[in-house]
Amino acid sequence: MSGASVAVIGGGVIGASVAYHLARRGWGNVVVLDRAPAPGGGSTGRATGGFRAQYATAVNVRLSLLAREKLRCFQAETGVDPGYAPCGYLWLAGSAEELAELERGQRIQHEEGLTEAVMLPADDVAAVNPAVATDGLVGAAYCPTDGFIRPLAILEGYLLAGSRLGVEHRWGVEATGFRRRPDGSIAALETSQGVVEVDAVVDAAGAWAAAVAAWASISLPVVPLRRQAATTTPCDLLPATMPMTIWTGDGFHVRVRDGRVLLLQPTPGVPDAPFDTRVDSEWVDMVERAAHARVPVLRRATVDRAECWAGLYEISPDKHAILGAAPECPNLFFANGSSGHGVMHAPALGQLLAEIISDGQAGSMDATPLRYGRFAEGAALATSGVL
Ligand SMILES: Cc1cc2nc3c(=O)[nH]c(=O)nc-3n(C[C@H](O)[C@H](O)[C@H](O)COP(=O)(O)OP(=O)(O)OC[C@H]3O[C@@H](n4cnc5c(N)ncnc54)[C@H](O)[C@@H]3O)c2cc1C
Repeated sequence: MSGASVAVIGGGVIGASVAYHLARRGWGNVVVLDRAPAPGGGSTGRATGGFRAQYATAVNVRLSLLAREKLRCFQAETGVDPGYAPCGYLWLAGSAEELAELERGQRIQHEEGLTEAVMLPADDVAAVNPAVATDGLVGAAYCPTDGFIRPLAILEGYLLAGSRLGVEHRWGVEATGFRRRPDGSIAALETSQGVVEVDAVVDAAGAWAAAVAAWASISLPVVPLRRQAATTTPCDLLPATMPMTIWTGDGFHVRVRDGRVLLLQPTPGVPDAPFDTRVDSEWVDMVERAAHARVPVLRRATVDRAECWAGLYEISPDKHAILGAAPECPNLFFANGSSGHGVMHAPALGQLLAEIISDGQAGSMDATPLRYGRFAEGAALATSGVL
């Protein structure tokens, strides 16, 4: 294998976005390596495709607003429709505490310019989603410009547009280690198909990113967390335009995709086998029961057990991305830890990291809150259990 100006490890939506944005800024010889035999082999291919700007920190709201701006011109830029459908996100509160958390987040959203996000009294929930059982609800938060995107279309768009600008994508090639210079910088990447001399390396290895950083003796605090998704058989019980509807208390959520209803609810994962992506049948039973109680029309739906799936989130300690240079290794850059928001934020993160690599800092927005060093500096971002 020959050399590369920048080698990107991981050809998921984030690696593809970083590579495209580097090429757009004039970088030649950008190479993306992925051990999967074809695009979509990692978490990107498992994502359901939610998009939201309703977050509880300024930096996440800004990432979403930058990403949304880019999604709106994505087709013109890449030639592929990213499927951005502003069907809304509806967060339901079942207690005063949950409502207060949603209100707190919304104040931050408004400060960052997401003024279309509104609080709703419980009586107005049915107007936004008539299928929901409203007993016990005390209110809701709703944003009509949140909605849906198509993860594999966004990946495809960045792969195609990157290729047109000269990015080389190599599938079935595993990165296995770094060769480092005495100053700690990376001279070359060892792979399953030979050694690649590099000027810089981007770790975009998703849930597997910590193993890559460890080759530079860096402890990257990103761990995998299994997320399961249940699907019904095709049905027309709910409209395709129904907003993503989330019960704030336990994170149970429902949406419609491609004529099926998707049912999701976070669980702690599999503690002893963190990369395990099996689907638990007891979990499917649980979300089916929740769906029957909370969206009564779904009592007539059938869960398609053979089509339920699971994948991995890439969790950082404060559930925010880790973006930028690795201080201990001068030519290693991180695009990691999006904590389950990686598809929706990929357009922004790719652009910002290309700016950081090219100019030393991001120009499109302040990305310093996402720096690797924040944890050691005691500057981790405030996490909300909810948003
Ligand atoms: C069930 C589920 C639902 C989700 N829903 C959403 C959603 O609605 N909205 C949203 O924004 N996000 C969602 N996510 C999260 C989203 O999928 C991730 O945040 C995103 O895909 C991360 O992108 P990535 O490119 O970092 O990771 P990946 O797509 O996992 O790409 C990383 C790539 O690195 C490769 N790799 C790893 N190690 C090596 C190595 N040593 N050498 C070569 N290649 C390597 C892997 O093969 C992989 O292809 C969901 C995730 C799951 C599991």
